[in-house]
Amino acid sequence: MSASILDGKALAADIRRRLTETVARRVEAGLRPPSLRVILVGDDPASAIYVRNKEKAAAKVGITGDVESLAADSSAEELRQRVEAANADPGVDGLLVQLPLPEQIDPAQVRSWIDPEKDVDGLHPENVGLLASGEPRFVPCTPAGCLALLQANGIEVSGRRVLIIGRSLIVGRPLANLLSMKGVDATVTIYHSRSRDLERLGPQAEIIVAAAGQAEFLRAEHVAEGAVVVDVGIHRVDDPAAPKGYRLTGDVHPEVREKASWISPVPGGVGPMTIAMLLKNTVDAHGRRMGVDGDG
Ligand code: NAD
Repeated sequence: MSASILDGKALAADIRRRLTETVARRVEAGLRPPSLRVILVGDDPASAIYVRNKEKAAAKVGITGDVESLAADSSAEELRQRVEAANADPGVDGLLVQLPLPEQIDPAQVRSWIDPEKDVDGLHPENVGLLASGEPRFVPCTPAGCLALLQANGIEVSGRRVLIIGRSLIVGRPLANLLSMKGVDATVTIYHSRSRDLERLGPQAEIIVAAAGQAEFLRAEHVAEGAVVVDVGIHRVDDPAAPKGYRLTGDVHPEVREKASWISPVPGGVGPMTIAMLLKNTVDAHGRRMGVDGDG
């Protein structure tokens, strides 16, 4: 059996189309468009690409975006001032600071500076707490994208055994909170770098989300026949046979496709969903600030 594809590219396009309509309706009703500010510190090339992609995707749905760039040797205080200026700016609905940050700046501190009402990445301690208590304001974008991908493909989550591999603040942990929330109702196990026995735990799971950041480490022996597999990882690996000399791959080995019932591809799975959810969080933030509901 070859797995059906959890097509994140197509679903993300659908979500963007709906967001475009929502934004157009609000603008027609006389509101200013939603806005997203991204603060980028340093000159990491991968971060620059991610930020450009976010900006382009935002513009396409009618969100006005701007990027503030700070030098790599900026101090935490300089960054704090930029964050506070964006917090105080009534024209900014969504605010995020691109990660990773240079080593002189503590990301945990930065997360706590962002106005929780504008925190579209959902990483402020208040938003982490709201999700953990089952009343989320902003769900972090990658976990939100994983759940949307399952639900849109009619995959039942309620009561199912889900193994989440990884416990990071941006993927594993919030995903565990999201999937175990009342109303979503999965039975969640978190597997992490100190866990043991993937050979036993993996095949017990009905759904596996791989977010360990290790290229192709989830093998067929870790997966039950017919399981659903969501591949969050993204890696560039050398491949002399590929036109560019490299290819993109995930945390899941290609052999798993023959065993799973559903699988998300890399690229084209969770990646586009993450950006779509960032846009959704920004449109939601705008809606709350303007006093209109979700689709209004
Ligand atoms: P991270 O490095 O912060 O966390 C990785 C987690 O995996 C850790 O909690 C660790 O305990 C666990 N882990 C590491 N090695 C393991 C192993 N051998 N066995 C079991 N657990 C192990 O990474 P992250 O930020 O959560 O990202 C994970 C992956 O997802 C990366 O490849 C990243 O590039 C990718 N990612 C993709 C998107 C997207 O939009 N597609 C978004 C975020 C992250």
